Amino acid sequence: MRKPFIAGNWKMHKTVAEALELADGLRESLADVATMDIAVCPTATALHAVSEALAGSNIGVGAQNMYWEEQGAYTGEIAPPMVKELAQYIIIGHSERREYFGETDETVNAKIKAALAHGLTPIVCIGESLEQNEAGETVSFVRSQIHGAFAGLSASDAQKLVLAYEPIWAIGTGLTATPESANATIRTAIRDVLKALYDEETAEAIRVQYGGSVKPNNMAEFIVMPDIDGALVGGASLTVEAFSGIIKNAVAALNG
Ligand code: PEP
Repeated sequence: MRKPFIAGNWKMHKTVAEALELADGLRESLADVATMDIAVCPTATALHAVSEALAGSNIGVGAQNMYWEEQGAYTGEIAPPMVKELAQYIIIGHSERREYFGETDETVNAKIKAALAHGLTPIVCIGESLEQNEAGETVSFVRSQIHGAFAGLSASDAQKLVLAYEPIWAIGTGLTATPESANATIRTAIRDVLKALYDEETAEAIRVQYGGSVKPNNMAEFIVMPDIDGALVGGASLTVEAFSGIIKNAVAALNG
């Protein structure tokens, strides 16, 4: 049984003071949620403060990016042991990083291996562009991303990953995939490939979030889909009201 997992990606938003205000509000608002894993992913500058503010709570902390080397002359980068001091999760291969910062399936794979070596849980983002979607290339493209991300990973390592299926055209646009089409893509482009690469147990063990304009009013329809195990939320993770609304509506949908 996969435990649902909803994570907020704060992207390049929030000063430390603003991040703390949001973290404190979420801690209070979500204190009663026990049936779901929750995490927030602040900017690197706010990680320390937010991880202290959420210590001992039911909300985990993730970073948004890191390099794969242990340390060294890599100006501006953050190493896995540095992330590990402050976070449990690490977002890897977000489409914005692939688009603006040159991340490839190879760098994503290197980061996944580094994260696992340091006991971090990777949240690995995959998903097709609008052009690929319209050309009917979604399944083949997402399958190729899965092959790239999992290259060289054992089944037991593979099971430690969380995947976020995020159609790029749905990120920050207000557009969403239909729950049915997102579920079908996750089944055919992700779980079927994982079953072929590993085995059924591995394919069914890995949690897959949906991402792309998730809001309080549409979370329920995604979370009830059999292959969708939660969400990676961008814009609607930036206020207490919206992010806790998403989580409470997910809990209610699964209970009802
Ligand atoms: C994201 O950036 O991962 C995301 C899904 O953003 P949004 O919820 O704003 O579409």
